[in-house]
Amino acid sequence: MKFKRTHNKVQAAKTKFRRSSKWIKFRKHMKEKQRVCAVTGKPLGPTANLHHLCMDETQYENIEDETHFVFLSKTAHETVHWLWGKGNNDWRLRLKNLWRVLYRMEKINANNPEKSKNT
Ligand SMILES: [Zn+2]
Repeated sequence: MKFKRTHNKVQAAKTKFRRSSKWIKFRKHMKEKQRVCAVTGKPLGPTANLHHLCMDETQYENIEDETHFVFLSKTAHETVHWLWGKGNNDWRLRLKNLWRVLYRMEKINANNPEKSKNT
């Protein structure tokens, strides 16, 4: 229970920071500078997220170094967090396995004219 309370406190502080004019101005600046999602290369929409590359929570409000941030589309952002997981290097295994699944799909569908469809 203590962990949960502390965790919620951290989340509340993050939410508060993201509502600050400092963050809103920084986010706008970064969006104008980057323009496209770092993963898909598509223009950033209203649901795009400015992702913190530094996962040290004590550095959450430190926006001194722009290279510690990257804009991602909503789906790319969720995928990055999913791949990163608990930060215990599982992302390499997940990415490798994901690549294998997609590679197999590509092979199986190589001669299928319907391959570009999402079915
Ligand atoms: Zn993020």
